[in-house]
Amino acid sequence: MEKIFHFDSPPEPYVADAAVLCCFDQRIRLATNKFLQRQRILRPDMIIVAGGAKTLASPRNDFERDFILEQVRMSILLHQTKRVFLMSHSDCATYGGLAAFDGDQNIESAHHKEELQRAAELLRTNFPEIGIEYFFVTFDGVFAAGTLSADHAA
Ligand SMILES: [Zn+2]
Repeated sequence: MEKIFHFDSPPEPYVADAAVLCCFDQRIRLATNKFLQRQRILRPDMIIVAGGAKTLASPRNDFERDFILEQVRMSILLHQTKRVFLMSHSDCATYGGLAAFDGDQNIESAHHKEELQRAAELLRTNFPEIGIEYFFVTFDGVFAAGTLSADHAA
């Protein structure tokens, strides 16, 4: 193959600071990245899919949910991940956007909080040994929606 780009990347194996499940919506990408840095998540295993945490809370089908669970399982297995961040965001097209909530941001955020909690509980059932934190991203910041700490008895 012909080399068409030069860039030096660190080749060392790493332990992931967290697996991060978030939507592929470009509008929230920079805020998400800045937020992760602020949280000292410098080596995330990014799981970026349409809808983010929706794929666990309200998956379109079993395949979608199982695929995402497998991605988390691989992050734990390959990179010793101990934390998972679940994220959803305002005006997400997979929910029909803000319009699906009649333009009401309070109704939308309350709905997303329930969705994130459901996604977290599903993860907890599958991976009792990991800590789970979940967040709602809007166009002016990131809101903490809740946490489920690791069950060390598991
Ligand atoms: Zn989205």
